[in-house]
Amino acid sequence: MIRESRNKATLSVWAGEEKYLMDTVTQVPVVHSVSFGYDDLDKWRDVALGKQPGHIYGRNTNPTVSVFEEKVRQLEGAEAATSFSTGMAAISNTLFTLLSPGDRCVSVKDTYGGTNVIFNKFLPKFGIDFVLCDTTDFDAIEAEIANGCQVLYMESPTNPTCKVMDIERLAQKAKSVGATVIVDNTLATPINQNPLELGADLVLHSATKFLGGHADALGGVVCGPVDTIANIYHFREINGATLHPEAAYLLIRGLKTLALRVERQNSTAMQIANFLSEHPFISNVFYPGLKTHLNHEIAVKQMRNFGGVLSFQLATDDFDAVRMFLPKLKYAHRAANLGAVETIVAPPATGSHVELTEQERALAGIPETLVRYSAGIEDPKDLIEDLAQALDTTHAALSG
Ligand SMILES: *Cc1c(COP(=O)(O)O)cnc(C)c1O
Repeated sequence: MIRESRNKATLSVWAGEEKYLMDTVTQVPVVHSVSFGYDDLDKWRDVALGKQPGHIYGRNTNPTVSVFEEKVRQLEGAEAATSFSTGMAAISNTLFTLLSPGDRCVSVKDTYGGTNVIFNKFLPKFGIDFVLCDTTDFDAIEAEIANGCQVLYMESPTNPTCKVMDIERLAQKAKSVGATVIVDNTLATPINQNPLELGADLVLHSATKFLGGHADALGGVVCGPVDTIANIYHFREINGATLHPEAAYLLIRGLKTLALRVERQNSTAMQIANFLSEHPFISNVFYPGLKTHLNHEIAVKQMRNFGGVLSFQLATDDFDAVRMFLPKLKYAHRAANLGAVETIVAPPATGSHVELTEQERALAGIPETLVRYSAGIEDPKDLIEDLAQALDTTHAALSG
């Protein structure tokens, strides 16, 4: 197209933009454009009606965001995937798409804090019934499924005590009553576990954690059958919790090293779990890779490896010990996050479960002196030495 105006106002808008860009770039461009232009009105209409591939408006779809969705779709072995501004948007949009007034949802007590709030506070407002079972009491979960439900919502491993749910067994039971099975696979990552292969209908992630891996972008994604994902996508498109293209770019860049990072984090977390199991100032270590873990056998059955997150309990009831211990770690952020290249530690008492009282935490099986540890990609020897010095000096100070 030839544009002849020399007017500065017109030039500043149109100069240099004679053609739609980018056929040969090797790296995924961040497409900030909110809308997508069509000279051919018939094509525009066909794209808008979904009869031809393409993009119309950024709240709905965007080329950068689509690349992110396609990567996760293939990693999870799903028919389709759609993305969200955060992990919580993925979870809430999925639940609100699937559930209607009068429906019932079966889940467990150990879901992510925000998910728990959706169950306890927001679903009831819309006349949706729910029951939260003990996470590893599979007989009780099966009994609740048999009482009738439209959705079975699982998370495995859980945060922060790394409980493992028998996805295959529970999914099978849920299918027998016609329920949709959802699994939050954030902690496992698609490198270690693919819930769709175990019978789940939908798998979702907080991409903020391991998928992005650098603690610099929020995002969420859900994968599953074409029809269900189309419904969830439609709700998200209208609800507006769209993943930003800039965040999508950071997540794509992070995803390129997902396997490398997670393999390293698997191995480091296992070494650290073994080290801590032997340490006199540690009373409990929670990691699915340990033979002593309550559900080790199920973890072995359904996971290829056990992930980068573990938790452990100092051998004292005194929270002051945690106060003293955590700041001594040289190679860890003390922050409310996990799954990044840096090691991150957090006590649930100030992090993931800060809103519960001490008593409620005890009821949820979360000791006050528990520490969640998300292994980064540092040298595992450095991390173990760091833990050793922090534990030993804290122990000495407390017993001195
Ligand atoms: C962090 C997290 C979420 C929520 O993700 P956001 O991106 O923070 O909204 C959901 N599930 C699990 C297991 C998480 O760790």
